[in-house]
Amino acid sequence: MYQSLTPRSFGADERPLCPNCKRRMSLTRRSPDIDHNHERQSFACRTCEHEIERVVDIDGNPLTIAGSLS
Ligand SMILES: [Zn+2]
Repeated sequence: MYQSLTPRSFGADERPLCPNCKRRMSLTRRSPDIDHNHERQSFACRTCEHEIERVVDIDGNPLTIAGSLS
């Protein structure tokens, strides 16, 4: 274990598992959300190309998770 150099990572290092095939997803996009304490993150699965978008708070706790079922 090692300490993170960026305390305000919004949990972006903690990538979710694909709801489709249960593989680790890749972060594809990050953008500020409603304020500086929230961030919108998009993840894509390299295996089945499933994509999800989530809004997390500054500690990386997801507020909403939206997935587009293909
Ligand atoms: Zn997948």
